[in-house]
Amino acid sequence: MGTRGIEIVDMNVNELIKILNRAFADEWLAYYQYWLGAKVVKGPMKEAVIAELEEHAADELRHAEMVAERINQLGGTPITNPKDWFKLTNCGYEDPVDPYVRSILLQNIAGEQCAISTYRKIMKMTKDKDPITYNMVLEILKDEVEHEDDLQNDLEDFDTMMACATATAKVKPKAKAKVSRKKK
Ligand code: FE
Ligand code: FE
Ligand code: MG
Repeated sequence: MGTRGIEIVDMNVNELIKILNRAFADEWLAYYQYWLGAKVVKGPMKEAVIAELEEHAADELRHAEMVAERINQLGGTPITNPKDWFKLTNCGYEDPVDPYVRSILLQNIAGEQCAISTYRKIMKMTKDKDPITYNMVLEILKDEVEHEDDLQNDLEDFDTMMACATATAKVKPKAKAKVSRKKK
């Protein structure tokens, strides 16, 4: 806890610590949602999706570390009991009960969209008041924007691939019929 560093924060520091602890809860839940998603996901394109989920899990854990570090600097304490993650979270946790690739992607896209909105709000709150938190949140927000984009691209690829597979399945019987007619 650096006293001069805290003095230059031009807003209620206790309020800011509460806001950051809510984000801290979000990051842990996001981390676990990705980490578990990578373990349970099933279906086409699974390997590519697992790589993305694992990468994002590592990013969310790094965000949790960044936020905890800032809470410490401000003289606060990061949430000590995981039970409080659920009480304080902005974005919640989506239990991946349906392990199908598309469902996992949709759940995590929703999580990223919530994270983007949450960090956008924190940026507005801290703008010109706490440049350190503002910059940290900007850095995190860049990652969340990239996460949403990555998952939406995966979803687009998945849907394109499934549409092609369906189209091919429809074509096959006709092709066979042609071959059998030629033989006669
Ligand atoms: Fe994050
Ligand atoms: Fe993210
Ligand atoms: Mg990515």
